[in-house]
Amino acid sequence: MEQTLVIIKPSGLERALTGQIISRFQSKGLIISGLKMMQLDEKILREHYAHLVDKPFFPSLLASMMASPVIVMALKGVDAVAVVRAMTGATNGRKAAPGTIRGDFSMSGQENIIHASDSPENAQIELNRFFRAGEIFDYKPANIGFVYSPDERNQ
Ligand code: UDP
Ligand code: MG
Repeated sequence: MEQTLVIIKPSGLERALTGQIISRFQSKGLIISGLKMMQLDEKILREHYAHLVDKPFFPSLLASMMASPVIVMALKGVDAVAVVRAMTGATNGRKAAPGTIRGDFSMSGQENIIHASDSPENAQIELNRFFRAGEIFDYKPANIGFVYSPDERNQ
């Protein structure tokens, strides 16, 4: 099964949305395979947002992502990357569809509550960036047979 990285950003943590966000992913049937709180610094953010370092809003994005600790999560499931991106919604919360996390909880293009990996390749890179060996767990939840069919479970 695929794994993906979610970060509950300071906008999610400070607005006390952590429980609701985790609950949505659990209710969907995604498996939490890693979960921890950490304080991000400029070094890790320059790597994580390397595609944005030259944008005029980058200093503001840096400050926003360091404004409080964040929660990082590894989520596992069939097609987990695409499923979690769909649940996340468009980057700008004002344009994100209702029913998505950003669509329901954000009014901003920057303070948009969570990060989610955008491809399986980037998910692997990002999981390695935010989790150390031993911090991601491989276990089979007891309800797995009620989340997937037998053939899906082996994907
Ligand atoms: N961002 C911003 N202003 C912009 C575009 C992006 O502040 O005009 C921030 C926003 O918090 C976004 C993050 O930079 O989530 C990463 O941008 P990306 O284009 O990768 O969007 P995402 O993958 O998060 O939807
Ligand atoms: Mg992105």
